[in-house]
This record gives sequence, structure tokens and C-alpha cells, in this order.
Amino acid sequence: MTINELAIDTAGVLRAALGDRILFPGDEGFDAARTPWNVAIDQRPFAVVRPESAEEVVAVVRAATGAGLRIAPQSTGHAAGALGDADLSRTVLVSLAGLRGVVVDAAAQTARVLGGSHWNDVLAVAAPHRLTALHGSAGDVSVVGYSLSGGLSFFVRSRGLGVNTVRAVQIVTADGALVRASADENPDLFWAVRGGAGAFGIVVSIEIDLLPIADIYAGMLLWDAERASEVSHAWAEWTTSAPETATTTLRVMSFPPLPELPPFLSGRSVVVIDGAIEETDAAASALLEGLRALQPEMDTFGRIPSPALVAVHMDPPEPTPALTEHAVLDELPPEAVDAFVASSRIPGLFVQEIRHIGGAAQRRPAHGGAIASLAGEYLIHSIAIVPAPEMAPGAMAATRAGVAALAPWHADALALTFIDGAGVDPARAYGDAWERLRELKAAYDPANVFSAARPV
Ligand SMILES: Cc1cc2nc3c(=O)[nH]c(=O)nc-3n(C[C@H](O)[C@H](O)[C@H](O)COP(=O)(O)OP(=O)(O)OC[C@H]3O[C@@H](n4cnc5c(N)ncnc54)[C@H](O)[C@@H]3O)c2cc1C
Repeated sequence: MTINELAIDTAGVLRAALGDRILFPGDEGFDAARTPWNVAIDQRPFAVVRPESAEEVVAVVRAATGAGLRIAPQSTGHAAGALGDADLSRTVLVSLAGLRGVVVDAAAQTARVLGGSHWNDVLAVAAPHRLTALHGSAGDVSVVGYSLSGGLSFFVRSRGLGVNTVRAVQIVTADGALVRASADENPDLFWAVRGGAGAFGIVVSIEIDLLPIADIYAGMLLWDAERASEVSHAWAEWTTSAPETATTTLRVMSFPPLPELPPFLSGRSVVVIDGAIEETDAAASALLEGLRALQPEMDTFGRIPSPALVAVHMDPPEPTPALTEHAVLDELPPEAVDAFVASSRIPGLFVQEIRHIGGAAQRRPAHGGAIASLAGEYLIHSIAIVPAPEMAPGAMAATRAGVAALAPWHADALALTFIDGAGVDPARAYGDAWERLRELKAAYDPANVFSAARPV
């Protein structure tokens, strides 16, 4: 048999097993199904499957492994950049986009979330119970992909990484078994999947703790980028004494002139401080006094309903072609702030941001998994938009230069959720856990069936 004949034969076997849930190149809908949220990434898998139940996920894993193919679980494709360089020609992309739904147990303050659900799905059901979750800045990121990769939220300095709110997962492992992993059931797998994510199987549901927070003091302050140096120095100084209840980000954003943008952003470069402060209005206002004294052109800080937090960081509401790089920083002395301000002018950078981490993010809880804490005090994150494929090399050069500008202050750590490009050594995100994680990967997935955005 030639390779082509073998592929046709395999496709026939898979189609017989999975019916119209599986799409092959040339099938109607294949191109839409293979396109991730990060539309800069041209994923070309052997096939795409869109299961809609746990039983269908089991069938996919059994059929794909039986055919000798690898499997890449994906919920939204926000992290498709990290899969970017992988050869997917012998991989079935399993899109969990059709497996969404959330049930909240208000008394227990927990949620059971189906494998492909977004944070917006959780917030919609949790908010009527005055509950929220440790979600990130974008509401359309998946709960599983974010939580099992660490998860830096607006509460990260007060409450630690999102992954520590995971209570259990139901996961289909490489042998095609549907198993539950929690502190009491399959504890090794539970440890590994909290960080190992899609490298250990396809998660069909996840149980997480919710927080009794109905509203929060949050918002942004905005100035013209001409003020970037003054504002950045003031913010860096402010963060050295800010309490753990305050989680904020500093950004310089450069917008092209686009009619769909609001006038205060279109064609402008601006410097923005945004975040959330878990304090009373009076205490939060007092805390912000020093920054407000810099007379921002816009000040939206105030008490908002918790679900409105996903709008505060102004993440793109639609699929977006982007390349990003990041590094964790040990400290942010004045020389580093100068380097940040200079780097924000690198041509091609859309966003140059520093997130304030530290606090509870650095403390490892007693029963955490492979990722449970993050060293470092700050995180530098450089983002470039890639409107056309030929612009990718320039965008990559810009984001790399953006992060390299702060090289003297880089910590020996990475934030797993922010690994977004190929060629990054994921071991740096796991630290001491890496060796045990590799051993468990060999035990649970000896043939390396699962291809994750951040491979183990
Ligand atoms: C606009 C934007 C804003 C962001 N904001 C934040 C933020 O504030 N804080 C933060 O920490 N991160 C943030 N991120 C990063 C984001 O949390 C990670 O990239 C995350 O891994 C994306 O998860 P996903 O499932 O949506 O993406 P996908 O690309 O679909 O999945 C990423 C990986 O997660 C695993 N995975 C996803 N679903 C499943 C499943 N059901 N079963 C098994 N494995 C699965 C797989 O390994 C997959 O390769 C942001 C990213 C973007 C693009």
C-alpha cells in the first residue's frame, strides 16, 4: 500500500466509526472546523472531529489510536500558536467546541463544566447565585485549557492560580477509558493533569470551586502614550507596596486607525493601567489615589458586577491573528521600566504589557498539582497582530525583541498559559514537577498519543 492508499483506508475506517462528526480535507465545513481562534495559525490535521458527548469522545480516542493516529484536543484554539509548528498530518484534531454546558451547585459553590465550555458560559450561570470564578481576561477562553494550564486571573495575587480551584476532571485517557481523577480517585492522574492538561487525555468535564464575589472594584486608567514613562515609573513604584488584594496590569497599546475602534483608541498609542481590587470602595479609591493624581484622560475604576470583569482588559471579542511572547520577571527596578518604555515603541508591537503577579501566585498550596504556583513578581507580555501570513516573521521579531528588552530581569520560570509559540522549552514552566510529570506521561500515554499545545 502507498502512503496515500493507507491514508484513504484509515479515513474510511474513521468515517465508519464516527460518521458525520469527522471531517476530512475536502469535506464541506473542514476549513471552518480546523481554524482556531488564533486565525494566524494554519492548522492542517489529518481530520477534525467534533464530538458532542463523553461517549463520542471515547469513540474518537479508540478509533484514532486504533488507526495509529495522534490526537490533539482543542477547545477554542486560543493557544493554537503553541501547536503552530507541529506536523498534524497524522493527527486528529479533536475540537470540543460542541461540548459546552455548565451546572452550578450554589450551596457547595462549585460548577461542573463540560470540556469545551468558555468562561462566559460559567459566568452566565454563576452570577445569578452571586458567584464567580478565577477566570482570565478573556471570556471566550475555555475553562479546561486555562485552568489546567495554571490560569492567571484578576484575583491571582490574592487567591493564587486558577488551577488550584480544580476539584476533579472526567478524562478520556490514551487507552480509551473514561475515568474520573480527583484527590481520592486516580490521584496521580489528578496531580498530572493539573498542569499537564491535554497531554494526558481529553477532558470531557471539569469541576471547579466558585467564589462568593458578586461585584468587584475594577476598571482602567488611560493616558496618551506620551505619558508612558511617567505613568510606568509611577505604577512600578506603586506595585511595590500594593496589597495582594490588588491585581493590575500596565500596557502600552498602539492601535491602527480603524473605523470599528472607539475614537479614544483609533489611530492612537495609549498607556493603560487596568485591574481589580478586592477592597471596599473607600479602601480601593484610597489605594488608587497616587495613580489618579497623574490625571488620566479616562478613569473607569468603580464597583462593577463580577461578570463585567471580562470586558476590563479589552481583549479582542473575535478570533484574531496574533503572535505573542512572554517572560516572568523577578523585579522591576527603574532601569527595567525605562527598558519597557523604550521597547513599547518597537515597530510592529500592538501591545507591550507588564502584569503584576506575585503574592498568592507564588505560594504552593498543600495539595496542588504539577502546576500550582508561579515564581516571579511580574510578567512581560508582547503581542503583535499578523493580518497576513507574510507579516509573521516581522511580528515574531517584534515580540521577541519586546521580551528580550527586559532580559536582565528574566526569572527562570514561564507561565504555562502564556506559552504561545513553538520552540519554547515547557520544562521551564514546571520547575521541580517536570521529572514526575514526564514519568506519569510515560505511564498514562506511553505511545505519546496526545499532542498538547504545551507538550510534556
Ligand atoms: C485574548 C487572550 C487572552 C488571554 N488571557 C489570559 C489570562 O488573562 N490569563 C491566563 O492565564 N491566560 C490567558 N490567556 C491564555 C489562555 O488561557 C491559554 O492559551 C489557554 O491554554 C487557552 O485555552 P483554550 O482551551 O481556550 O485554548 P486551546 O488552544 O483550545 O487549548 C489549549 C490547550 O489546552 C488543552 N485543552 C483545551 N481543552 C481541552 C480539553 N477539553 N481536554 C484536554 N485538553 C484541553 C490542550 O492541551 C490544548 O492544546 C489568554 C489568551 C488569549 C488569546
